[in-house]
Amino acid sequence: MIIQIDRIPWEGLEVHGELPATVLELENEADRIRTCDPILCRLRAHIVAHEVLVRGSVSAQIQFACSRCGDFFTTTIREPDFQEIFPFSDPHSTLDLTCDVRDSIILAFPSFPRCAKTCRGLCPRCGTNLNESTCSCSEPVMDDRWEVLERVPTGKSGGTSS
Ligand SMILES: [Zn+2]
Ligand SMILES: [Zn+2]
Repeated sequence: MIIQIDRIPWEGLEVHGELPATVLELENEADRIRTCDPILCRLRAHIVAHEVLVRGSVSAQIQFACSRCGDFFTTTIREPDFQEIFPFSDPHSTLDLTCDVRDSIILAFPSFPRCAKTCRGLCPRCGTNLNESTCSCSEPVMDDRWEVLERVPTGKSGGTSS
């Protein structure tokens, strides 16, 4: 995604294009993130004094492994407020947006991707995907978790240090 600065008219230049998902360099993350081509860029470049201001939106379809159940699901990652400023001294030079587009897509990734808000995850005991079936592990999962929390010593109530 390269812009030739002297091709930008005063009213600005539409920069609509696509980048291959390989620019995201996520090949080593394939067990939790898979990419789908392409990355879509709908940008507009303006020259302001000796800077090129590029604004717009970038988006990509990404497959994540759900942090709860592990199933892959596809979602659209969108950065609607892409904005970068590129200072330049030579108006006949070019600027390359690839790295900035890559960074803005990756920064928009969720920390804990979930296939659905209601994803029930895997049974911590037998590993059954609770979205697809139920298991015969007797204790409800949520109750177990609360019990663990209650057992955590707070250090305030009734604690006698020896
Ligand atoms: Zn899930
Ligand atoms: Zn189970």
